[in-house]
Amino acid sequence: MWRVGLDRLPTRLALKIRNCNMGSLMCGLCNDEEETAEHLFCSCWVALEVWHQVGVWCKSTPLFMFEVKDLFKLHNVAGFCKEKRMVFKGNVFVTCWILWKTRNDNVFNNGKTSTEKIVQDIKAISFLWYRIRKKKDVITWDKWCSFDTM
Ligand SMILES: [Zn+2]
Repeated sequence: MWRVGLDRLPTRLALKIRNCNMGSLMCGLCNDEEETAEHLFCSCWVALEVWHQVGVWCKSTPLFMFEVKDLFKLHNVAGFCKEKRMVFKGNVFVTCWILWKTRNDNVFNNGKTSTEKIVQDIKAISFLWYRIRKKKDVITWDKWCSFDTM
């Protein structure tokens, strides 16, 4: 997320600007538009579907991002109390991580995009990260799947 915030993610368009030839410039998730960080996380139809499902899972207000910096403020406008806001911020970061990881798997290992698998991975990884960070009140998988963290 640090690299995303600094616009230093090695997307295909960013690499082309630095004279690195990756062949196609198209998005590693949808293959419909040129790949930029803004496209990958904010306007790619795959990402939009994933954000929708994450919003439904976490029972947030509808999630809208117009540019990358909106990702860092999303937890403040998603309609949560203070504690859930921080948990949701972690989920936003995990969502970006899994989208990037899926993109890399598609580009380098001929993987296939499955929004269902992406959302399953987000829930599983965020569950592990949350459990490791949370010192008391261990949460169950069932409660995590209904985003019942309190
Ligand atoms: Zn795309």
